[in-house]
Amino acid sequence: MAHVIAVANQKGGVGKTTTSVNLGAALATAGKRVLLVDIDAQGNATSGTGIQKSAIEKDIYDVLVNEVPLAETILASTHEGMDVVPATIQLSGAEIELAPQMAREMRLKDALDTVRDQYDYIIVDNPPSLGVITINAFTAADSILIPVQSEYYALEGLGQLLNTVKLVQRHFNTDLKIEGVLLTMFDARTNLGQEVNSEVRTYFGDQVYKTIIPRNVRLSEAPAHGLAITDYDPSSRGAEVYTALAKEVLAAHGDY
Ligand code: ADP
Ligand code: MG
Repeated sequence: MAHVIAVANQKGGVGKTTTSVNLGAALATAGKRVLLVDIDAQGNATSGTGIQKSAIEKDIYDVLVNEVPLAETILASTHEGMDVVPATIQLSGAEIELAPQMAREMRLKDALDTVRDQYDYIIVDNPPSLGVITINAFTAADSILIPVQSEYYALEGLGQLLNTVKLVQRHFNTDLKIEGVLLTMFDARTNLGQEVNSEVRTYFGDQVYKTIIPRNVRLSEAPAHGLAITDYDPSSRGAEVYTALAKEVLAAHGDY
């Protein structure tokens, strides 16, 4: 049965999509069956894994709002062993359209349950908000992976995020856990990076991954080619660190 990991932080540009795509690909390279679920209307995880707009007939919007079977939306990514449920700009209306609907918080969970036995890991790439779409992800997930950008105010907003986790634990998903906290876009040349590193470790303790994701230009180039970093430039620092992160995640699940 797949372990469902929601990659979330309501701040934009902190590395959620980069982490979802490249952790997913690295887990697939390790032999795991991976499904990457894009629930951001920007569709960056969709295009970043080589899914062409013209190939998308139904997307996650149809699953969440019209209850189309999830299996009908699944496409193959450019990375072997990783499938994708795509998102398109259509999803931007979903927050409002779901508001009056029955059991709206459970839509993603119910959909993922239908394919859970076909994958080892399901990675959900979240939008930069804490609305009903993210609540769906937290309700469906076993755990949450939080990327934190090594920048000023890195911890700002994390209180809100953790409050949302508590809310979902109370009402919809008692077993929801924190998978881990990941430092991203780290620049070792600055004191700031080190300060944020120690600040985040003081706050989250051993929930912070040993692996730190540095700034690496190859990571920012890969999405335009529709490729995971391990396919775009296997010898890059970016490929190395996301492979190391996947090892930590596998080890945490006793899944070497
Ligand atoms: P989010 O999904 O949280 O909005 P992204 O993963 O899309 O964040 O990252 C924001 C931008 O930063 C993207 O252009 C991405 O390519 C780039 N980026 C992400 N991680 C790195 C990194 N480690 N090094 C360099 N660029 C990165
Ligand atoms: Mg994103």
